[in-house]
Amino acid sequence: MNIRPAMLFLCALLASCATAQESGFITVPSQPANVGDAGTAARAYHDSGAYQRGLEVVANRAARWIKTRAPSAHQPALVLDIDETALSNWEIIVRDDFGRPIAGPADLASAGPWGWAAWDQLGRDPAIVPTLEVFRVVRAANVMGDQLSDLIGGHAERKFLLPDPFYRVP
Ligand SMILES: [Mg+2]
Repeated sequence: MNIRPAMLFLCALLASCATAQESGFITVPSQPANVGDAGTAARAYHDSGAYQRGLEVVANRAARWIKTRAPSAHQPALVLDIDETALSNWEIIVRDDFGRPIAGPADLASAGPWGWAAWDQLGRDPAIVPTLEVFRVVRAANVMGDQLSDLIGGHAERKFLLPDPFYRVP
């Protein structure tokens, strides 16, 4: 029996346990980000105004580029994604605590959770104002979205990705 590798493993295990015990916890060295913490951080990001400022930064850059590019564009077009680009779903995002159930009612008298399909039919999601401003400026080829999947495909001369830590669409 080769005892040397076993002793090295035991020493490494004891060293890692000692480190964890010094901080008062016995745990594993790594794990994915905590979903509850991510929700708290996303809500703080939105409520602090940082999300709005992020939208304004990207939309202003898009508007500046459009103004520069528009005079020489041939058959310019604007392609906008809808959710979290042109329209905000923040109301249902909060109601569903960052979950995304598709089925189910969206009863305004109910605290939720609400179904996204029913929510879409309400037409209650307001315009994202920085994107609305871009729409008012636009006369050039452009694509804007909030998900990487909105922007792939190779049809855009320039792509603008708005911040969206609230959900992921693959
Ligand atoms: Mg979207």
